Amino acid sequence: EIGMRGDPDDDSNLEPRAPVVTVMGHVDHGKTSLLDALRASDVVAQEAGGITQHIGAYQVHLASGQSITFIDTPGHAAFTEMRARGANVTDIVVLVVAADDGIMEQTVEAINHAKAAQVPIIVAINKMDKPEANPDRVKQELLSHDLVVEEMGGEIIAIPVSAKTREGLPDLEEAIQLQAEILELKANALRAAEGVVVEARLEQGRGSVATVLVQRGTLRMGDVFVTGNEWGRVRALINDRGERVEEAGPSIPVEVTGLQGTPHAGDDFVVVEDETKAREISEFRSEAKRQSDMARSGRGSLEQMLSKIKEGEIKELSVVVKSDVQGSQEAIVQALNKVGTDEARVRVLHAGVGGVNESDITLARASDAIVIAFNVRANAQARDAARRDGVDIRYYSIIYNVVDEMKAALSGLLDPEQAEKFLGYAAIREVFNITKVGKVAGCMITDGVVKRGCKVRLLRDDVVVHDGNLKTLRRFKDEVKEVKSGYECGMAFENYNDIQVGDVIECYEIEEKQREL
Ligand code: GDP
Repeated sequence: EIGMRGDPDDDSNLEPRAPVVTVMGHVDHGKTSLLDALRASDVVAQEAGGITQHIGAYQVHLASGQSITFIDTPGHAAFTEMRARGANVTDIVVLVVAADDGIMEQTVEAINHAKAAQVPIIVAINKMDKPEANPDRVKQELLSHDLVVEEMGGEIIAIPVSAKTREGLPDLEEAIQLQAEILELKANALRAAEGVVVEARLEQGRGSVATVLVQRGTLRMGDVFVTGNEWGRVRALINDRGERVEEAGPSIPVEVTGLQGTPHAGDDFVVVEDETKAREISEFRSEAKRQSDMARSGRGSLEQMLSKIKEGEIKELSVVVKSDVQGSQEAIVQALNKVGTDEARVRVLHAGVGGVNESDITLARASDAIVIAFNVRANAQARDAARRDGVDIRYYSIIYNVVDEMKAALSGLLDPEQAEKFLGYAAIREVFNITKVGKVAGCMITDGVVKRGCKVRLLRDDVVVHDGNLKTLRRFKDEVKEVKSGYECGMAFENYNDIQVGDVIECYEIEEKQREL
């Protein structure tokens, strides 16, 4: 049986495969509408009466006989989450930009996520049916993100479309096909199957169900497989039209039942010889995961990146920059682009105005990057994600310090024994004017703990307005050592009085790390 499938390492059986496409863009620019409209253009589905099933990915069969596979979970969160798990499933990104709205914040995020993954971009300028549609403006705006469309002498294909009137959809499909030909996408269908989990869930009556995108080989009924830390034996295969099928080849998405547990989106999926082997691998992986979870903290820290650069593992220090205003963002990016030596340089993956969000952390994790927060803070979800995934968020309030620290980092001068440790948050509820002391903030500790003499950062509307030291920490007039979450206290700051009700105080300390033996 194994012999009939061919040698897994034998690439002489490479055949063209369908491109796998992810649609990204700003909210409300028409990702879902476009995916629906493209799906409705499937010639096979039309014959079959258009019965469709949502399984997280689907194939469109074109009149030409060729097919395109679309990942049906739009947005860069899913895209980057999968990439963070090591799965580069997407061959081509279709960037949807509404012709009336133009490039917006999440469009820029999508562009940078696609660039970080080095996936080619095709732009779909959507909503062309609207009277306000202005495709030329969109093309101009693309230019400022280094996406030069063909009409302007570049290589980016931009197709005007309307998900509503279906105008331009065949052109978009043709552009995808063209790009796929350039990429020369091929796979061996004759070997044991390997793929990626696109979606997975536990369903009553069916057990764990996973949508698997087969990347190589052919998946068949009865195949034994390992996926993430789980394993199973294929009980049933259901295609994107809800039909039972016997097998699925490269670039074909299928729903798989027969799993012993529920894997995660982005987990690999590999067919193995038998159950003994499958059990052995999944047990080994579970144990390895337990150990790596324990060793994980600090995985994405600046220090770790630097040691990787020293060992020649990576050549670039990748950063995600978030800042308070456009001006400082531009200045930082410009300065960072000049930092570096022949051995290593800084690469800005994404820069934006506003607080650090979860999407920034996912991007950083997927790309081994650190996050630079300039006069902005990370929201709660982002902080949790960063702590969980060991992504380093570094806060700054002076541009010179950002540049200087990156320079020092790259030339190996950074003091690796110092690191910032988050302590807690306090909210200012009242401001008192006290003679000889100055202004005192009446606070409620909302998170963690505040310690006497700790460092403080004052945040107003998520922007850092002051970075300094705590002068006094009092409860009922007494100076105290620490105040925990849920308690009130009074705080005064060294050389700083400009405090307001509603300000948030982030408390932290500089931790001297122990030398590793
Ligand atoms: P998503 O958030 O990017 O998935 O956007 P949706 O597909 O949900 O679309 C957002 C809104 O734009 C909906 O009200 C759609 O009906 C509308 N829309 C999407 N595509 C078009 C289009 O081509 N023309 C017009 N006029 N409206 C569209």
